Amino acid sequence: MHLTRRMERGWLVRCECPGQTEFRVRRLGIAVECPRCGRTALAPDLVTEYWTRSASRKASAARAALLAG
Ligand SMILES: [Zn+2]
Repeated sequence: MHLTRRMERGWLVRCECPGQTEFRVRRLGIAVECPRCGRTALAPDLVTEYWTRSASRKASAARAALLAG
């Protein structure tokens, strides 16, 4: 399970269960539960993974700009 993106009111979360369920949570709280399969994930883990992913994306975009320019 991971956070897809931050929305104005809450987060978009995607679960890897069949059908790739995507659902919105208003507040992350302590844990997030998939409405389809009932799997849970700890919110701090999801947030850490989200920021790590977006930070490395920014870093590689900056590197690409540097090499191009
Ligand atoms: Zn699920």
